[in-house]
Amino acid sequence: MYCFVKRDAKSTVYSAVSKFLIGSGDWKMNPSNSSFFHLMFGERNKLPFGRLGHEAGVVQLVNYYRGSDILCRKTAMMRIFKQYYSSIKKAIPTWLPQSFVVYPKLIELTYPEPSRSYRLNNINRSNKMDEREDLLKAATHENGLVWIAKSSAGAKGEGIKISSDVEDLLQFVDSQKQAFVIQKYITNPFLLDGGRKFDIRCWVLLDVDYNIYLFEEGVLRTASESYNPVNFDDTVSHLTNHNLQEELSSKFGQFEEGNEMFFGDFNRYLMKKIGASMEEDILPQIKEIIRTSFTIVKERINTNGVGYISFQLFGFDFLLDDDLKVWLIEVNGGPACARKLLPDLVQSLVQTAIDPLLPPSSTTGRGRNLFRRL
Ligand code: ADP
Ligand code: MG
Ligand code: MG
Ligand code: MG
Repeated sequence: MYCFVKRDAKSTVYSAVSKFLIGSGDWKMNPSNSSFFHLMFGERNKLPFGRLGHEAGVVQLVNYYRGSDILCRKTAMMRIFKQYYSSIKKAIPTWLPQSFVVYPKLIELTYPEPSRSYRLNNINRSNKMDEREDLLKAATHENGLVWIAKSSAGAKGEGIKISSDVEDLLQFVDSQKQAFVIQKYITNPFLLDGGRKFDIRCWVLLDVDYNIYLFEEGVLRTASESYNPVNFDDTVSHLTNHNLQEELSSKFGQFEEGNEMFFGDFNRYLMKKIGASMEEDILPQIKEIIRTSFTIVKERINTNGVGYISFQLFGFDFLLDDDLKVWLIEVNGGPACARKLLPDLVQSLVQTAIDPLLPPSSTTGRGRNLFRRL
């Protein structure tokens, strides 16, 4: 019998994986603070990596790669891309929207009495790393640009502001408490019926050997209302996050059930509208972006030389523009899964990331594995 511990109560994916393992009969769940386990479903960002891998005779598997935040925090991702391409003296890939990292200035005014270390840290960082001068240059260089400010650790479309006025965005950032990415806004999104924007979510799995797998099902998360090219405060027309659409629009679910369109349906839509296909026109770009992203961070997040082994599920968010160009928008390190895809994702994840290390006594209950090696 194998044992796992589950320390993250909030992850719907790992709750479902836990249930699946217990149901298979090969696994039992130990108390979350138990030090004996073959597999840990850890708490994202609070994982005790230093305490892993010290149990004699057991190789411990954990569901996060240490350091993967370098890809999954928006500011860190931009930095690592810039560093990497500057070190190999090449241009940053054109599928990454031009981005600048900006720290709030005047933090002393926002916080009447910040701690000394916080203040010093902030001053140091803002001097060394703030790219607002570069942003201002880029903004004056080219007319008619629109920018989107996204907070480093933000999620679910919260704390985002879009504007064609960079000074306005800098002022916004300066009133905030964390670092931001200010990024070129994609102003020519591919639109669905009803003139609606969407983003594309792909699930990607990194196994213990750093092999990359793409889940063959993916989802478009659609806007409930038509794209508004003149009013950037019209949130539901610009930000396609599920929770925002559901919360802010009375038309949620009117076009697609749950504002979700799956790859098969989108493929038919593409064919019918413009004679293009996912397989030929979209997926090759997506795969290239995923491969490149993991190559860039490999040296920072691999587990060579540590006493435990890791796998991780990622959620890549893309935008498609009206030239059928795919843009990388962000990488999520602990993604949720569309309800309809969850059972397949779970059993595919178990087969790809867990079974090879901790083999099941029988493979009944394992369906078709939808993870495809990249
Ligand atoms: P979050 O972590 O909040 O989901 P994202 O980077 O995914 O942050 O941005 C949220 C949404 O904002 C995206 O799903 C997309 O609809 C929109 N968005 C983000 N970046 C851009 C961009 N550069 N151009 C156009 N739209 C964007
Ligand atoms: Mg996110
Ligand atoms: Mg997102
Ligand atoms: Mg065009």
